[in-house]
Amino acid sequence: MPLSVNQPPYKIPEYSLTGDLLAFLTCGLQYRLHNRNSLPPSKPVQIWFGEFIHGVMEEAFLEWHQDSLKRKFPWRWDSEIREIELRINRRLKARGLNPPPRVFCPYDTNFSRPGLCPDPNHPHKLIASQRAEAAINTWGPHLFPLIDEAEVRLRGIRDMPDYQPRDRCNYYGITGVIDVISSVNLQNAPSGNLILHYLHQNSQLQNIIKRLSSPEYEIIIDYKGMRRPSSKDPSWEYHEWQILTYAWLRKRQHQSREVVAGIIFYINELAPSQEDMKELQNDVRNNATDVMPQGLDLQLIQDWEKNTFPPQLSTLFREQRSIRIIPVDKSRIQNALQEFDRVVRKIENSVLSEMNGNPITSSWYSNPLKRNCTTCDFKTFCRGANSQIEKSGGPYHPTVP
Ligand code: SF4
Ligand SMILES: [Zn+2]
Repeated sequence: MPLSVNQPPYKIPEYSLTGDLLAFLTCGLQYRLHNRNSLPPSKPVQIWFGEFIHGVMEEAFLEWHQDSLKRKFPWRWDSEIREIELRINRRLKARGLNPPPRVFCPYDTNFSRPGLCPDPNHPHKLIASQRAEAAINTWGPHLFPLIDEAEVRLRGIRDMPDYQPRDRCNYYGITGVIDVISSVNLQNAPSGNLILHYLHQNSQLQNIIKRLSSPEYEIIIDYKGMRRPSSKDPSWEYHEWQILTYAWLRKRQHQSREVVAGIIFYINELAPSQEDMKELQNDVRNNATDVMPQGLDLQLIQDWEKNTFPPQLSTLFREQRSIRIIPVDKSRIQNALQEFDRVVRKIENSVLSEMNGNPITSSWYSNPLKRNCTTCDFKTFCRGANSQIEKSGGPYHPTVP
């Protein structure tokens, strides 16, 4: 009697929007070595700050929601924000994410040695804390009253693009987590709300809102622990695709209302570092940003000298640079989905190539840009990185951690 053979499990490959698709777009090889091997990066500065700011904003919202005394802004850093920061830091530590030195002071007043700080006078309001304070006090008063749901997990299924019989599956799953969903009712929208003010200034969005059949609509909010990318940088477009794909996933949930826009908060813009200033100066010189400085801000940015403290830019300018509005409509969503389909196809092709016995380095594309490679754990043996860097002063050498 012939014995039946168990079929291999039918598994749909699943892609996270940020963890897989955006990571692959940064550098395919780095994505393969880190994410697909589940190796945590050794110097996750940006990862730490991204997680930190998400945690701080979420906790701040919960406190605002539960405690009527916290409805008054601005919050004081030492007595109202610091406790939240330390709590989030403890949570991140438990997950193996330690704050990078000179970015965050992890000590309380009882710690009598300098530790990783310049002196023992803890707590120090280092750059992560300056940004957390600015984010809560700039956007908290306007954002918190609009929040409907936080940390909304989404999942959808799409046809495998250009399906071929050798593919692992004829579908793929796409997942994402929306930081915040805000719902707005046009009939009782809070007056004097800065976020609604920025939304109403966007003419494209106004046309979308005018065509709505119901007075209620939704806005997707995403916090990014980074500066506003140059409008010539590919990530400028990638962030838009991310929001539009969230909108597509959200529309498929029963309880959703019409999603009319996404808002990205680029938190670093509220308290830029020297590195952020250097890039802002370049963007302004090359006319490569959609929010250009005027008057004194322009002068301060043009005159700023590298390796000096960033100048005090106006509140309005920092606010305008930290908020990005992305109108949502059908054709833009379709375009974003097609772009991500193409990315999935490329990842699947790389997986197939590897399954056919080709080496990793020839199966996955590499993107040896200086800003990708300098923080990459694989730069010492990555041929792409070294051939690129050789042109500008020699290969990367292994260093003692
Ligand atoms: S060193 Fe650069 S090119 Fe090589 S894997 Fe890392 S980011 Fe990609
Ligand atoms: Zn300190």
